[in-house]
Amino acid sequence: MQLYNKILLSLLLGVVAGFVANFFEIGWFISVLVAIQPIGTGWIRLITMIVVPLVVASLLVGTVSLGDLRKLGRIGSKTIVYYMCTTAIAVVLGLLISNVLKPGSGVDQATRDSLAADFAGQAEASMTMAAEKPSTVEILLNMIPTNPVQAAAEMDLLALIVFTIIFGAALTLIETPKKEAVVAFFDGVNQTCMVMIDWIMKLAPYAVFALIAAIVAEFGFELLQSLLMYSLVVVLGLLLHATLTYGTILRVLAGLNPITFFKRIRNPQLIAFSTSSSNATLPITMETAEEEVGVSNEVASFVLPLGATINMDGTALYQAVAVMFIAQIYGIDLTIADQLVVVLTATLASVGAAGVPSAGIITLIIVLNSIGLGEFVQGGIALILGVDRILDMIRTSVNVTGDLTASAVIARSEGEALVPRPVDHPVAMSPG
Ligand code: ASP
Repeated sequence: MQLYNKILLSLLLGVVAGFVANFFEIGWFISVLVAIQPIGTGWIRLITMIVVPLVVASLLVGTVSLGDLRKLGRIGSKTIVYYMCTTAIAVVLGLLISNVLKPGSGVDQATRDSLAADFAGQAEASMTMAAEKPSTVEILLNMIPTNPVQAAAEMDLLALIVFTIIFGAALTLIETPKKEAVVAFFDGVNQTCMVMIDWIMKLAPYAVFALIAAIVAEFGFELLQSLLMYSLVVVLGLLLHATLTYGTILRVLAGLNPITFFKRIRNPQLIAFSTSSSNATLPITMETAEEEVGVSNEVASFVLPLGATINMDGTALYQAVAVMFIAQIYGIDLTIADQLVVVLTATLASVGAAGVPSAGIITLIIVLNSIGLGEFVQGGIALILGVDRILDMIRTSVNVTGDLTASAVIARSEGEALVPRPVDHPVAMSPG
């Protein structure tokens, strides 16, 4: 059986097991499923462990092989403009469908208040985290690491990207034998990481089962009823963005058949869904872009780590729906001007959100504050917290799909052929 099918099967089994335990309230079964969750968490740690060495090695080799700083500047500016535009489209789409479908109109006041009361504690914790968010100037300054080792230790990808690119650019200027030695070393690190990814992916089906079963077993299905319309609107928006927006972009800008493309990137999509983390999925995203989509290392190693950090279309779209939902539920009319502010702040907030679970709900607080909904923040966040994990899974898949779409578009704009080239990893070779 193909790895993808195995992962999908264990995902379905996980959903069924979790659902049975939850629906029939089988206490011991729920406890067992919750008890095996650490298998999934351990796996997430295992794959996340590769992120830093892979990003540094791959980006360094990529920067040196580009050889030309102007080309790097060109790719960089194209990527950032592309990311901002697609994120803004996602927010507009989220606002449009929320205006039409009015997800907030179906919840009565009593449900609203009891939901808000149930999750008040958790909402307060998110508010405290949001209050600790640095200012825009600080965010920009933090992109320059004072100590690259610390940036690596804290998995601060943006700072690591900045350091690695400057280091790579400088490396192109030193004497050839020394330059080649450094490049050969990092190329070796890069390839070793790929072998590790293959090993870790073999364990993915078990991890996916453990993660999903526990989430479903603990999920409050009663909650889903009262938040059904909101959840459906978020999911609908995400599906529309993934199929229509990315489909059109893939066809027009990358010359690819969207269906073939989506088939090739199923693994990272499933892993993003199961882990709710773009960062944890990054190693698989990078491997898939190069081997299944045919994006060059130079483009993939730059566009994808940057994307995992700053490009979150799914998160931005969800924030747009969440803002509209919260406003509607408290009976506040958001003007066109307010909604334009949402386009701007949700786009920027998704840049600020880290690629980790629930990051989007924290930056949502910034968006709500920006349109003067400050007094409804705590209640509003408490309202939607209950279904957030499930929506996080779907939006993370969209975030990763967006990054991969970008890598194809940028690669094509640089004249790359985009032919999949499965690499024969050293694992498959005979020793010696
Ligand atoms: N979990 C998302 C990601 O890692 C971020 C979020 O929307 O919370 O891409």
